[in-house]
Amino acid sequence: MEPAASFSLMKTTRRPFIKTAVGASLATLAAHADVPPPVTRKLGWALVGLGSLSTHQIAPALEKSRHGKLVAVVTGSPGKGVQWREKYGLAEDKVYTYETFDRIIDDPSIDVVYIVLHNGMHHEFTLRAAKAGKHVFCEKPMANSANECREMIAACEAAKRQLGIGYRCQRELHHREAMRFAREKVFGPIQHVDAGFGFAIGDPTQWRLRKKLAGGGAMMDVGVYALQACRYLTGEEPVEVVALETKTDPVKFAEVDETIAWSMRFPSGATASCLTTYHFNGRDDFTAYGTKGRFGMRPAYGYTGLTGWTSDPKIPFTFPQTDHFVTEMDAFSLAIIEGKPFEPSGAEGLRDLLVVEAVYRSIASGKKETVES
Ligand code: NAD
Repeated sequence: MEPAASFSLMKTTRRPFIKTAVGASLATLAAHADVPPPVTRKLGWALVGLGSLSTHQIAPALEKSRHGKLVAVVTGSPGKGVQWREKYGLAEDKVYTYETFDRIIDDPSIDVVYIVLHNGMHHEFTLRAAKAGKHVFCEKPMANSANECREMIAACEAAKRQLGIGYRCQRELHHREAMRFAREKVFGPIQHVDAGFGFAIGDPTQWRLRKKLAGGGAMMDVGVYALQACRYLTGEEPVEVVALETKTDPVKFAEVDETIAWSMRFPSGATASCLTTYHFNGRDDFTAYGTKGRFGMRPAYGYTGLTGWTSDPKIPFTFPQTDHFVTEMDAFSLAIIEGKPFEPSGAEGLRDLLVVEAVYRSIASGKKETVES
């Protein structure tokens, strides 16, 4: 069920449901679901990089979007260009290459450039898109380094264009409820978060295992989800990090990290312990420990099947599954249409990279490291 549909359900059925556990959950849903505003116009989105995520998640989501539509693609493959033209009814001049990309400056149908390339190209294409006067939506991780993030933020600010980051969980209903539990201290102030995300990676030739293309390994790719959860559940920025890396396959993971366990200390004294891996399946969760109880999600970060739990049976934590990509692209389009700042923005991507860099510094030094601000 999409948030819009869920919200209209709430408007008509709130009273009969409110006394039940499910009703309480639906009532909370109303607080999280954005009220669907009228569709005034749909923004034109150009997808840069037609790999797995663009093909299977983003383009189908744009077809369902209320406030955005696919108007152009950017690809290095002429064959993919033809396929996408046929599938999405795009004119020939709406297929750009990485070389002709800068011509989008003369294409008023493109409002937003969505960068879905490997991580090592996020910085370059954000700068080029901003120079062409386009708003930028960039996949996670935002870039290979904090310095690249700073330059991306500066480029979009100079162009007076918005920069959004594809942290899809931040707008997902379970995660938003978890943020509310934490913010309103429903289980008391959060003292500790335990979070992990990983999977057994396959093909040893893929870009995710090349440092230049990926910036790092599991930490950059999926560790950031666990890190994000710790940051938005504590509502604080970590100040200290200590990390440990293990490698069972030093050949496959010669350039990037395989498994990292790390701990963080927050200014309030709260702590977090996290794990990320490219070596095994099964970690996909968080648990937040408050002074009065606990709550968590497992699975927590996938596209669907997200499941919440709490230590108090009277406090439910169940919501409809939604399309995270529709939700985030609609929110970004609406922010632009309404002239309002969008979150998560580039600043959020930068904050994660500062912690990731402290994690890597701690692995290299074997010591506790301070997170730069
Ligand atoms: P992918 O490998 O399937 O697609 C990458 C695209 O970049 C391909 O079309 C490829 O042709 C193109 N490309 C251009 N130059 C390249 C080069 N030199 N080397 C390799 N590829 C090159 O990857 P993907 O899974 O679609 O991931 C793309 C981005 O999306 C990454 O930043 C990734 O972290 C992010 N991602 C986010 C989520 C999410 O849930 N938000 C999920 C998956 C991936």
